[in-house]
Amino acid sequence: MTAAIVAVKPHRAAPAYGRHPWVFAGAVETISGSPKDGDAVELRTNAGGFIAHGLLNRQSKIHVRLYSWDAEKPLDEAFFRDRLGRAIKLRHDVLKLNTGDRAAYRLVFSEADQLSGLTVDRYADFLTVQFTALGLAQRRDMIGRLLLELTGAKGVYLRTEKGIGTLEGLELRDGLLCGELPPAELVIEENGLQFAVSLAEGQKTGYYLDQRDNRAVVGRLAAGRRVLDAFSYSGGFGISAARGGATEVECVDASEAALKLAYRNAQLNGLPQVTVTQADVFAYLERLVTDGRKFDLVVLDPPKFARNRAAVPKAMQGYRKLHQQALKLLDRDGLLLTCCCTGLVAQPDFEETLVTAATDGRRDVQILERRGPAADHPVSAACRETGYLKVILARVT
Ligand code: SAH
Repeated sequence: MTAAIVAVKPHRAAPAYGRHPWVFAGAVETISGSPKDGDAVELRTNAGGFIAHGLLNRQSKIHVRLYSWDAEKPLDEAFFRDRLGRAIKLRHDVLKLNTGDRAAYRLVFSEADQLSGLTVDRYADFLTVQFTALGLAQRRDMIGRLLLELTGAKGVYLRTEKGIGTLEGLELRDGLLCGELPPAELVIEENGLQFAVSLAEGQKTGYYLDQRDNRAVVGRLAAGRRVLDAFSYSGGFGISAARGGATEVECVDASEAALKLAYRNAQLNGLPQVTVTQADVFAYLERLVTDGRKFDLVVLDPPKFARNRAAVPKAMQGYRKLHQQALKLLDRDGLLLTCCCTGLVAQPDFEETLVTAATDGRRDVQILERRGPAADHPVSAACRETGYLKVILARVT
């Protein structure tokens, strides 16, 4: 059976040739054959030249997601086995991540692993998968089976991101995809610390794996410091700081469920100096400033502030405000670790909000490190959108 053909408009073909995996609706000239959404298609030039194999979804702004630029390699099971195998090999053989019994890391990172719309995390013996592409979601049984075969995991649990139903026309329910059901609570190990993770109830796929190396940095710098972990979720940064010898650690988050986990994690690791506070961080920082509280290390790890360009100015204001308050809370020679996971805000623009806060607050700020996520969250040179996380470590005098 020959795949249906999608012809791309002549002046819109360059990104696809450059191996960017997204073909937007506006770039499509014609669709021939009568493919259904989710079916494999061949992307061709309007003169008929092969560009890539992809999966069609007219319900998404991304009409075709591209996976294979080799005409001889269509999107069959052998193709996906190979592609998943490459992603796994990167983590195991190249990066040599800890793959022990309780290890946790990102096994497949969507476009960054040339698998647009598929994210897989490993938590001890179990995997979570998240589909953000209809075409791959339709192939979920095959993908689940391949993942079990390639990793030896006990089970694969499906999580669905809010809003993806409307973006992709994708109706998925959280639950077991294949293998065994994971226990309600799994304990993973990160940098020698234990963290309780709930694959079914936790935010996103259960834990924010991208910050692993940055948590280690905080752990190394925390000795003797009073630490504020703002937007703490289950306490990853705060608990690392406490283990590193922080004298007091306050984790702040708006979510009660997150703080219950943070408290549980502090107990698991025997770190009584960790306290939790449920509050809106913006309002709470203001109150801390009014109360004259001081810290020696502040971590800011807010959620994504903008999902589209229209929301970017407001996001920038948010970062500026957080930086202004953090500088007021930091005592002499305090340290700030500030994070931005808004993909639409570029590193220099994020940094600018810190610079502005420093100028306004008349504080000397030294940028010590510009960091990113751990290497199991690579950046695809063809799809720079995969480089979403920017982290700055600074000393504030
Ligand atoms: N630092 C965490 C990850 C943070 S994710 C870690 O290392 O695991 C962002 C967190 O911000 C979520 O837990 C969410 O509940 C919280 N959050 C979002 N908006 C908030 C607000 N306005 N005030 C307080 N917490 C907020």
